[in-house]
Amino acid sequence: MTSTVLKRTSMTTRAITRSQFDLAADLLNLEDYMRQLLVRPFRSLTVEVPVRMDDGSYQVLEGYRVQHNGARGPCKGGVRYHPEADELEVLGLATTMTWKTALLDIPFGGAKGGVQVDPRGLSTRELEEVTRVFTSRISLALGPYRDIPAPDMGTNAQVMAWMFDEYSKRGGYSPAVVTGKPIALGGSLGREEATGRGVMYTMQYFSQDYGVPLKGGTVAIQGFGNVGAHLARLLHEQGAKIIAVSDVDGGFHNDGGIDIPRMFQHAYVDRRPVPEFKGEGGTITNDQLWNVSCDWLAPSALGGVITKEKNASTIDCKVVVEGANTPVTPISDKILDDRGIPVLPDFLANAGGVVVSYFEWVQNLQQHPWSITKVTEELEAKMRVAYDDVRKIVEEKGVPWRTAAFTISLARVAEAERLRGHHDSNSASS
Ligand code: NAD
Repeated sequence: MTSTVLKRTSMTTRAITRSQFDLAADLLNLEDYMRQLLVRPFRSLTVEVPVRMDDGSYQVLEGYRVQHNGARGPCKGGVRYHPEADELEVLGLATTMTWKTALLDIPFGGAKGGVQVDPRGLSTRELEEVTRVFTSRISLALGPYRDIPAPDMGTNAQVMAWMFDEYSKRGGYSPAVVTGKPIALGGSLGREEATGRGVMYTMQYFSQDYGVPLKGGTVAIQGFGNVGAHLARLLHEQGAKIIAVSDVDGGFHNDGGIDIPRMFQHAYVDRRPVPEFKGEGGTITNDQLWNVSCDWLAPSALGGVITKEKNASTIDCKVVVEGANTPVTPISDKILDDRGIPVLPDFLANAGGVVVSYFEWVQNLQQHPWSITKVTEELEAKMRVAYDDVRKIVEEKGVPWRTAAFTISLARVAEAERLRGHHDSNSASS
């Protein structure tokens, strides 16, 4: 974890969110004290996570929970289990959550958590123990009206079920303390596909407004996990032609359009590598994906993949849609802007997941589950309003989409901070 690679990744996440913040703060003439308040986290916990391994030995892992801001509501954000998780990366991601929840106008702030561990190397019992110890160590800062975790890289619905159970031992039955739970424990219908669905809606609106075709349009997607696979499936259903997809093992390309229902079964349901797909088309490398000429490019795997050094000057698409968090570096943002390629930013495009997490929280608090139709309709309504809000500023001020989105988020969080007044009484998360 002390590798320079890790440090670079963490610094990148932080640098990306910081430089975007400065641009928007300047546009809003934000006061200096407010900038300081909104750059730093409200609270940052680092905890020891001692775990007894199956062979009888002990390991002491490190875990983090960073609450960036709770002025607009309880802090909200995922927990990732990853060998390279660290405090700086978690802080960058927690900050993004603050802007995302504000932009979608849901009553949450931003948080993120992580444990520095490779979950693939753990047995189910060890994974459960890591989760229970971590939850117990951060539980003083959690709660349905305080801070609500969710799954992220390396965690899933089962991990959320253990977190809910561990927290409930002290707090009483508290399903609203985490989201992304199994349906049987109060999870929401539609949560699994929600992020991909939200990305698709954003693309639909943009297509209607700016004439980049979606039906019959061509799409390349990096990543075929939760976000990328559902996005591909939903876009295919809308008549889009998905011509290139990739996962960690490589990519697959077909200018005539990949058979997405079969690819979905192969790579997402059966968990087989994308390049092993047997269908019309051929394999490509991960790097070749960036050379594919298409209408829409949707990086939906990792942060920091569109860079000045690698591909920002050469990618050949009409629009970039950020399915992943921070896939485009700030300098690449500028390069793409100069090239006339709009970037639909992560905290707008991939916000569908946190919106349906919010619906899950509402359903848990009311003890009243929603139908899938209601979830989908309400998600569509939230995404539409946020998109329209951002578009209005893009049109009025002539700024890029990311800057426009940032000004909305910053203004909302700053207003909540001012109205609450005493900055030590950030009580949603105190
Ligand atoms: P996931 O683990 O389900 O899938 C990740 C995919 O990326 C996998 O197909 C993996 O093989 C692929 N991948 C990994 N390294 C790659 C590489 N070098 N080249 C090409 N593909 C590679 O994760 P996910 O939930 O789909 O999340 C993807 C991104 O979206 C992350 O940045 C995540 O933070 C962000 N995000 C996810 C959600 C959500 O609800 N799942 C919400 C908002 C943002």
